[in-house]
This record gives sequence, structure tokens and C-alpha cells, in this order.
Amino acid sequence: ESTINKIAAGEVVERPASVVKELVENSIDAGSNKVEVEIMAGGTSFMRVTDNGRGMSTEDAKLAILRHATSKIQEVSDLNTINTLGFRGEALPTIASVSRFSLMTRQRDSEFGTLVEIKGGKVEDLREAGCNIGTTIKVEDLFFNTPARKKFMKTPVTEGSKINDFIIKLALSNPEISFKFINNNKLVLSTPGNGSQYDVIQSIYGAKVSEELLGVEFEDIDIKITGFLTKPSMIRSSRTWQTFIVNGRIISSRSIGKAIDNAYHSLLPKSGYPLAVLKIEVPQNTIDVNVHPQKSEMKFEDEGRIFKAVYKSVLDAIRPAGQ
Ligand code: ADP
Ligand code: MG
Repeated sequence: ESTINKIAAGEVVERPASVVKELVENSIDAGSNKVEVEIMAGGTSFMRVTDNGRGMSTEDAKLAILRHATSKIQEVSDLNTINTLGFRGEALPTIASVSRFSLMTRQRDSEFGTLVEIKGGKVEDLREAGCNIGTTIKVEDLFFNTPARKKFMKTPVTEGSKINDFIIKLALSNPEISFKFINNNKLVLSTPGNGSQYDVIQSIYGAKVSEELLGVEFEDIDIKITGFLTKPSMIRSSRTWQTFIVNGRIISSRSIGKAIDNAYHSLLPKSGYPLAVLKIEVPQNTIDVNVHPQKSEMKFEDEGRIFKAVYKSVLDAIRPAGQ
């Protein structure tokens, strides 16, 4: 946990995808089972996250948003200042300091919701408003007041595809939540939220892929691996369709990727990568996560043992019966 809390300062808001990450993670934390993300121009001009979670009271909303309104946020003028804001519990004020930001939120048992509008860290409006149960946060014109940071954004297509990749991984790791992703007015992802990982894979990658899936089930003392792989006949030229979830956290790991490669290549000579969605459970005290906005590289206490477990789980799944 200590490493997790050591979020590198300033990395909270690096690009549109990091904003979406913070907002959607808050939606999940709020117990939502429906999360909708809408973006325009790769998120550079418009992002909106709507959830049906527990919402915030007016007091909660003030606390979440205005924590630094009187001091740091209004002084934000350069990258260095933003960098000092980016630690845990400050995602919302940090985002609000570098965008045109609006928050609408209502709790189940309150008659009215709360609307807060902030521009570049300055509160423009805070009032009662009618709204649905849950929370909607809109972020427009990201980095409008920090031109240096704005220059680091890539093209809308690149920024949009980072958001898309992130939502796919979140949807795969939260099958009990229904995700919708709307990109430039087009619905590009919609998952049922019925708890089935198979159904999430089908709704993201299509029926042609889901018909070629093999199930993974593996258990060895304190390691448990479950998930899906495409058959060796359906491999791809890149690793982008591989998602690893360790103790509920989406991670990247060289050993896991390599173990899958080795298992596939022991059966077929050509190189390539299957679609893989693997959920791995290990004792929490045997892992260490280095958190970055886009990627969490995981270190296992015993890399060799994880490698062998993944290798074996994959081989069991893809080996023709009787071999
Ligand atoms: P953190 O998530 O680290 O607490 P944030 O700045 O991301 O910090 O959020 C601050 C607080 O605002 C959260 O702890 C939560 O109480 C509240 N909050 C943020 N987003 C939501 C949401 N979508 N639904 C309900 N509460 C929220
Ligand atoms: Mg948060």
C-alpha cells in the first residue's frame, strides 16, 4: 500500500486519459454499477463522466473540490505549481485547476443536487440544482491556462485511443459494472454489467473473437488464475489485446506476457500474441506496485513462481486434450 500512496506528484493530470482515469476510478469507488464516459476531440476539448453511484452532499462536494481553492489552486500558473498539487485526494481540485470544470451530484435521499462550476481553479458557480442520483463531471478545454502542458498533448486521435484502451481494460476488470464509451458522438463500447467476463470480452471484441475463446482455470496453493485466451489459431501481431488483473488491479508485467508467449510457442512455431484476459489472485504481501497514470508495473516477490503458474495455466488451456 505504501507504494500505491506514493503517487508521483504532477502525474495525476498528465493528459486527457489521466483525467478519465481519476474520474472513472472515483465513480467505481462510489459504488456505481453504470459508468458512462463521453469525449470529443480525444478528450482535449470535452470529457464527461456520468455515474449512478452514491453521489455527494453539498458539503462533500465543497470538500472534494474546494480543498485548496483559497490557496494553491488560484496560484496555478506554471507546470511546477501543478506538480506540487498532484498527490492523493487532490485529483479533483487539480483537474479543476487546469480546465473548465463542472460537477453535478445528488445523493439518493436528497431532493436536490449540487452544481459546482470552476474555471481554472476559480469557483464561478455553486448552487442547488435538479439532477439524477449519482455524479456527472464535465471537463472542458483541458490545459487552457497552462500552455506549456497543453503542448505535450498528442493528436486527438492518439489521446482518444489512450482513453479507449484504458476503458477497455477497466471494463474487463469490472464485469459487474456497465460501461459506455462515446467518442465524438459515436457509441464505441457498451458492456452489459452482468458480472460475466466472457460477455465483456464479447461486447468489446465481437462474436468472432468470443467464439474462439478458451477458458483458463488454475489453482496452486495460494495462486489462482482464471480468464480467457484465444485459441492458437487466432493470434495477433501485437500484445494490445492482453489484459492482466492482479488482485483486482490492472497491471503490466513482463513475466506474465513472456509466460504466455512461451506456452503458445511450445505448441506452434510461429510468433504472435493471443488475446488474453487473465485474473490472478496472490497474497497481497507478495506483490509491489509501482503506480503510474497509464501503467502499473507489478513486481512479484517470486517472479519465477508466477511465471511458472501462468505458463502452466495457459498450457493447460490450449493443449489439445490427451497431450
Ligand atoms: P480521492 O479519490 O483520492 O479521495 P479525489 O480528488 O479523486 O480524491 O476525490 C475526492 C473525494 O470526492 C472522494 O474521496 C469522494 O469522497 C468524492 N468523490 C469524487 N468523485 C466522486 C463520485 N463520482 N461519486 C461520489 N463521490 C465522489
Ligand atoms: Mg480519486
